[in-house]
Amino acid sequence: MRILVADKLADEGLDFLKASGVDFDVKVGLNESDLGAAVGEYDALIVRSGAKVTAKVLQNPGKLRAIARAGVGVDNIDLDAATSSGVLVLNTAEASTLSTAEHALALMLSLARKIPQAHAHVKGGNWKRNQYQGTQLAGKTLGVVGLGRIGRTVATRAIAMEMKVVGFDPYFPADTALDGRVKLIRDFDEFLRQLDVITFHVPGGDSTRHLLNRDRLFNTCRANLLVVNDSRGEVLDEYALADALKEKKIAGAAIDVYQVEPPPKDHPLFGIENAVLTPHLGASTDEAQTAVSVDACKAIVAYLTNGEIRGAVNAGGIKLDLPPDEAPLIELARRMGKLLAGYSDGGFKTITLRASGTKAPKHLATLLRLATVELLASHLATPVNVINVEHIARGRGIELASIHEPAPPAGLVGDIVGIRVEGATGESHRILGTVYADGLPRVLRFDNFNMDMIPEGQMVLIENNDQPGVIGTVGTTFGDAKVNIADMVISREKHPDGSATALMVLKVDSEPPAALLNRLRARPNILRVKSIVLPPRG
Ligand code: NAD
Repeated sequence: MRILVADKLADEGLDFLKASGVDFDVKVGLNESDLGAAVGEYDALIVRSGAKVTAKVLQNPGKLRAIARAGVGVDNIDLDAATSSGVLVLNTAEASTLSTAEHALALMLSLARKIPQAHAHVKGGNWKRNQYQGTQLAGKTLGVVGLGRIGRTVATRAIAMEMKVVGFDPYFPADTALDGRVKLIRDFDEFLRQLDVITFHVPGGDSTRHLLNRDRLFNTCRANLLVVNDSRGEVLDEYALADALKEKKIAGAAIDVYQVEPPPKDHPLFGIENAVLTPHLGASTDEAQTAVSVDACKAIVAYLTNGEIRGAVNAGGIKLDLPPDEAPLIELARRMGKLLAGYSDGGFKTITLRASGTKAPKHLATLLRLATVELLASHLATPVNVINVEHIARGRGIELASIHEPAPPAGLVGDIVGIRVEGATGESHRILGTVYADGLPRVLRFDNFNMDMIPEGQMVLIENNDQPGVIGTVGTTFGDAKVNIADMVISREKHPDGSATALMVLKVDSEPPAALLNRLRARPNILRVKSIVLPPRG
């Protein structure tokens, strides 16, 4: 076993390699062609952010089976090239969890006790102690947004400081976290109204953009609120935050991450006294740098010696090439997972895949993993893929099951794949589908609504009470917004009391604006409106 270390790594990682008896070379600063010429001689490559592992470097991968990035960002590794060469890419995201959590706590304490301001005051030769009276944190309510690795680490330490901790995480699969010590609140505004301090530990993306917006800063937050953001710049509206601080709608804010980094010279938070700002230092500690080196070396040795996969970033190393007549099931599982992810409101407690027929049951584990990737990926900062998805789901307390059914569900024939999800709040949905002889995936049942629909492109799912006029309202609302409906399926479920609900599945030619979706949601008899984007056909 030979490993090439192509960037400078902390000695502790190299010591681990030596102690493991692994043969390794350290060659720092190789250019693209020299790195490309060298990699094929090694079983694994370890890099930080300096070495550029481009498609050209991976053109002749030779013996290379794995690349470890000591750190988080993998911008310097061409993931597609690695995946198509079957080379596993790993990172060490967990190594920065403790350091980032401690940084968030440091920001919180700095804010509460005005330490940066008092420090500047004394260094300026002053001694007006009464200007810097602070706030005690013990007894105060801390709201942790995002109960992943860093959020839970912050929560544990805040509890030790005698704070009352509540959480907001729509994808957390239970009503409490940390053995009942952190209660989850499902409504963000209700959560916000209770808080003295809020700290963000969520990924970026659509579901977290401007969670703390102008309206909430001005109308929902308590005037004594301290805001900490050590996650991603976009989770709060920095301009509204500056205004809220100026107008004393909140008491202070400490920020490590910005929408644009470095922030522009005229950034509105720069001139504000009770804003504490650091330059993206969350993971910048000696220990985190040592930990990324040790974790990367350990992960590579574990993979090369016994195939154990830690921190996988790509899908290299696992075979998804099913025989041609069975391969379309992959697309079916992925698309059904994506539909359920978009239709469900919260996270999941259980994900169950059932398959009947002759082909689907052979690939239960693969299909379950593929569907679960789609169900979890959109709300996690960790890259989720078929390799790491079971590990991540287990870590989040989600139960995964796959069941072989001897006969297809009533009313259906052939190779049927079904996925059922159950959420922490009791919400559950299921979807049944198949692949016809044309090789295209079909959804045949969504909850209790029967249909025959190819899941593809920009879709809008609308559940409504089955009353006259609803279809007309939907058509007019889309027409007014100039969004063309290309295709539409309507299915109806009759209830024992004589009433009925319907599900409309629309395929539209352009992305429906949020205002159109909200207008629909406000109309009578419309129960749920979800916009979901799937890959185009083929
Ligand atoms: P993680 O994937 O372990 O946890 C993220 C959590 O956020 C999950 O529990 C998820 O369910 C939850 N979540 C997703 N969408 C949500 C929403 N809309 N509302 C509430 N919760 C939601 O991630 P992590 O490792 O804990 O990292 C958290 C963040 O910290 C990431 O954005 C990461 O980039 C950032 N980070 C910053 C630094 C720094 O230097 N400041 C260092 C490391 C990580």
